[in-house]
Amino acid sequence: MPATSSPRAVSFTALRLAALTGALALAGCVGGSGGGTASAAGGCAAPATIPDGDDDLALFAGSCATFTTFTEGGETWRIQTFRNGSGPLFVVPHDDENASLATAAAAIAARGGTVTAVETGGRRFNGRIDPNRNFDGGALSCGKPRRSPRFVAAMLPGGRPIIALHTNSPGAASTGGSGTISIRAPYAGATAFPATGPLAKDDAMVILASRNGPAGVQSLTRRLNAAGINVMVETVDTTRTDCSLSHYAVANGIPYANVEAAHGDGATQRAILDILLREM
Ligand SMILES: [Zn+2]
Repeated sequence: MPATSSPRAVSFTALRLAALTGALALAGCVGGSGGGTASAAGGCAAPATIPDGDDDLALFAGSCATFTTFTEGGETWRIQTFRNGSGPLFVVPHDDENASLATAAAAIAARGGTVTAVETGGRRFNGRIDPNRNFDGGALSCGKPRRSPRFVAAMLPGGRPIIALHTNSPGAASTGGSGTISIRAPYAGATAFPATGPLAKDDAMVILASRNGPAGVQSLTRRLNAAGINVMVETVDTTRTDCSLSHYAVANGIPYANVEAAHGDGATQRAILDILLREM
């Protein structure tokens, strides 16, 4: 696992300054049970009080919130963290996928865990960088060695398994839709294991990653399929990585899954996540 960041407390009024100068983490009043993961130093704020341009952070009421900002890779990063005891780490890299943030809030309220999210005011990219192509952290290389250690430390503060949460546009371009994720059109390097049932919509699935292809995650794939959940398996060659979180997890031996649903379909995403956490 990456080194744990050590946020230091700053006053609430210093927040805008922190956003400008970087490298500071916000800590304010106490909220929620906290603890459970490694970087609890520095306290926490009430979720609705940390900066956000577009989402309703009241969804995280009762959890311990922190906000960290720093400059790396030529961009200013704003990372939100919400903790409720110990449990999995839920990662929301794309701020335009609002259903995923709501799913993450429901998950830690129900069973505990940590959520990390990239705040961009509702955009998919942070400036020129796709957050889900920025997980190098020295363990992977996408052309610029060690370009994102602070990003990786902030996004992966501890907690296993890592559950990425994404939403996607309907269908896939190759089958006449507008999206890039569909169980009916596996992308390069992926193998589809479709299921049947109400949760097995084209855009809804669990994406697993393995060095050894489908054989490496065969048991979980079978159990999820039996529960009516589509599974896509990425075969990861870490010598040809795209620095996505799935590749980082495989390279570091961290149990990982990604729950995808159509944009706005939080109900399906939550239902799949419930079953995944039971079976994982
Ligand atoms: Zn995404």
